[in-house]
Amino acid sequence: MIPAKFDYKRVSSAEEALSLITEAGDEGKFLAGGHSLLPLMKLRLASPAVLIDIGRLTDLSYIRDAGDHVAIGALTRHHDVEHSDLLAQQLPLLAKAASLVGDPAVRHRGTIGGSVAHADPASDLPATLLALRASYVARSASGERVIEPRAFYTGFLESALQPDEPLTEIRIPKATGGGWDVQKFNRRAQDWAIVGVAAVRSNGAGGIGLVNMGPTPIFAESATNAWLQGASPEEAAQLVIAEAEPQADLNASVEYRQHLARVLTRRALEAASR
Ligand code: FAD
Repeated sequence: MIPAKFDYKRVSSAEEALSLITEAGDEGKFLAGGHSLLPLMKLRLASPAVLIDIGRLTDLSYIRDAGDHVAIGALTRHHDVEHSDLLAQQLPLLAKAASLVGDPAVRHRGTIGGSVAHADPASDLPATLLALRASYVARSASGERVIEPRAFYTGFLESALQPDEPLTEIRIPKATGGGWDVQKFNRRAQDWAIVGVAAVRSNGAGGIGLVNMGPTPIFAESATNAWLQGASPEEAAQLVIAEAEPQADLNASVEYRQHLARVLTRRALEAASR
């Protein structure tokens, strides 16, 4: 399929991106790795009049130790998240989850910011970042704001970001020395998850995130609380669908998704509890 006609503007600074998006209003869209937006445009499910290419803003591509958290620039590619030494030490769950995204070509182009901003419930990183209780930094012409972990995903492919507000950074509390695991169930290697689970526990805190179990990435609050308060992996896994609203599709019925979520959660919590 061929996308509808659009103007293309490549920017060389965040300021230029802000100025162009202010001008374009609702007609404008940021382009990062293009691996979610361009397929939507080819299907004509998105038809922005102006594409503002932020993909070469290298100053928004970084992974930094920021004391009690790790700061990741929105333009950081999945490949760099997967291979970061800092993340291997401080947030190995995130590095592992990034390694499960698509194939090497997707991981070399796709960005963590694009994955988060796209807010696809079937994506691996948004649910993982929920489990890790990440917060999100957005910029606009009127300044910078931090969006709290649970306030970010607001609906199917919708987030708390305003159209004129680029995501610039993701801040993730360090989760050193605890247990973690990520489980992704798909029929063919490199496919999207039919269901996925990310779990982490460190210093009494932690979380369980669910992939493809509702209209948004899900934080499984009931199961997380039970697990942190001492429930066994089996007991906590039985609670995992309390906040989920799975849909049936060609790959799975609602009941099959619920079954998968329980099984994958038990496995993830057993691995994270070792
Ligand atoms: P883009 O496509 O450029 O943008 C996506 C959306 O986010 C657009 O609306 C754009 O305007 C907005 N956006 C981008 N950056 C910003 C920003 N900084 N601030 C505000 N808005 C922004 N993902 C998985 O999780 N798991 C998979 O298994 C998987 N498999 C894939 C397989 C294929 C073949 C493909 C093509 C993609 C796959 N993906 C998968 C998606 C991939 O991870 C995408 O790269 C990612 O979802 C979007 O990142 P992007 O940088 O490409 O964003």
